[in-house]
Amino acid sequence: MVLPVTEILLAGPRGFCAGVERAIDIVELALSVCQPPVYVRKEIVHNRHVVETLRTQGAIFVDELTEVPDDATVIFSAHGISPEVREEARQRGLRVIDATCPLVTKVHLEAIRYAREGYSIVLIGHEDHDEVIGTLGEAPDRIFVIADASEVEQLEVPNRDKIAYLTQTTLSIDDTRDVIEALRRKFPRIVGPSRDDICYATQNRQAAVKKLAGDVDVMLVIGAANSSNANRLVEVSQTAGTRAYLINDVGDIRPEWLQDSGRVGITAGASTPEILVSQAVATLRTEGVKVREVHVVEEDVRFALPQELTHAARDRGLTLPERTAMRRSI
Ligand code: SF4
Repeated sequence: MVLPVTEILLAGPRGFCAGVERAIDIVELALSVCQPPVYVRKEIVHNRHVVETLRTQGAIFVDELTEVPDDATVIFSAHGISPEVREEARQRGLRVIDATCPLVTKVHLEAIRYAREGYSIVLIGHEDHDEVIGTLGEAPDRIFVIADASEVEQLEVPNRDKIAYLTQTTLSIDDTRDVIEALRRKFPRIVGPSRDDICYATQNRQAAVKKLAGDVDVMLVIGAANSSNANRLVEVSQTAGTRAYLINDVGDIRPEWLQDSGRVGITAGASTPEILVSQAVATLRTEGVKVREVHVVEEDVRFALPQELTHAARDRGLTLPERTAMRRSI
């Protein structure tokens, strides 16, 4: 039996977080106030649609600073960078605008503090993710990266009495709790930050998926394959017992996923633009299909722009437009 889609439930919150909005604003504003060319090291956020849109506006995306010519402006992505990259830019005299999310910077500062105080640091996260690579760079001799609880058993540190943990900002809340519990069992004196490093946006999007999962037959998570928080949304839904699929956009939806799936849940990772959600809804919403939003919390977080951007505008006799008045293209 094949049931048609009868209802679409949209998770709230979903999509862009404050760190991603700020990073996109930074690139768009830099393109309007900085002398071109404007380079961006790595994907500004992990989403192809966002990167391609900014590319059409003039941003040049590169993987490494060696691809940036002298005297150019370079923007560091929302995921953060290691001090080594910052130093390379300084030595080259590049004009830097740092779009690192302030909540990622918070983790860097914690790593620096623990390292200065002589702690070994267990960084819970994915070693190939840009954010973890950046944080690891703050104290490479002291940081030990683990991805899950199964790695705790093998973990050895120089001094078991002086050990701290930190986490990547976009992990699964439940899985991370398990890792921290395993760490506490093995290293009873381990310390951690007073407030969780998993950011508000990750927590809220996971809470929304958990709430939605029981009410839908299948969950579509719109986000990139290299987006950590989007992948975690898929896992959260699956753990709650609801099939979930990660899609870049509506074109990835396979009809067989929707067979016998009357109620379809849709959410989006923190770097996914709302336009991709709207396109998916428009495609699935045939006549008579109801669309309902399920909100667990309203978000009103907003981060200030970096001073480098204000200075760049001032140096050219320009004023930054008010962000509230900005018409973001994405
Ligand atoms: S997901 Fe969290 S840490 Fe990452 S950019 Fe967004 S607010 Fe910042």
